Formats: sequence, structure tokens, C-alpha cells
Amino acid sequence: MREQILFFSPSQCSGCGICEMVCSLQSSRGCSREASYIRVLRHPRLGTPVVAVRAECRKCKRCVQACTLEAIRFAEEPEWGTLIQDGWIACPVLDRNLCADEKELSPCGTAMQDNMRS
Ligand code: SF4
Ligand code: SF4
Repeated sequence: MREQILFFSPSQCSGCGICEMVCSLQSSRGCSREASYIRVLRHPRLGTPVVAVRAECRKCKRCVQACTLEAIRFAEEPEWGTLIQDGWIACPVLDRNLCADEKELSPCGTAMQDNMRS
């Protein structure tokens, strides 16, 4: 089976965080950003969403199905070049034990959390 990796579109991602919630719920790990294998972070300088994925991701694609903006997708190698030309970015892989990237990239999607509180 060909390798599939997750890509995100910075121009399409709103940073809503729905993919994080779906991922954390799909394996009964609770509804929390920390429990999700997909992480929506914010670029420290550009201020744009950055979608990253943990190595533990099972590639179930539920996050992709939940994204109404179609801002994330899995792709096999023949598609990678075309996606990159179209502005898609391969999601960086986060290691649970090496969270330096995560500390630099602050959490995104606070609008959704605010909506859930109100
Ligand atoms: S659900 Fe889609 S638009 Fe929302 S944060 Fe995730 S990738 Fe971005
Ligand atoms: S594909 Fe990976 S990140 Fe997406 S919901 Fe499944 S386990 Fe989570």
C-alpha cells in the first residue's frame, strides 16, 4: 500500500479546531485538544493556522471528513507535487516527547472554544 500523508491548505483552513475535537472523540480519548492526534496551531510570525499531526495518527480520515472547508486531505506520492504547487503544505509530524514545535506554535481555534463556552 502506498504511503499517504496529510496535507493542509493554509488559504482554506479557518483554524476552527473541529478536526481536533473529532479526532479526540473518535477513540474515546475525550473531547480535548491535547488528546487529539491532529493539532491546529498558529504560526508564530505569520499568524496563520498550521495543521500538524502526531506520529500516532491512525489515518482513519475522520478529521478530513469533518472539515467542511476541505482544508485537509490525505494524498499518495504521485499527488504530492501537484498539491504543493497549488499551495498545500505537508503537515509537520509532532512527536509526543518532543514538543518544542508545539510550544513555539501556539494553539489555534479559540473561536470554537469561546462558542462552546457561551
Ligand atoms: S476542521 Fe478544517 S478548517 Fe477547521 S481547523 Fe481543522 S483543518 Fe482547519
Ligand atoms: S486521520 Fe489521524 S488525525 Fe485524523 S482523525 Fe484519524 S487518527 Fe485523528
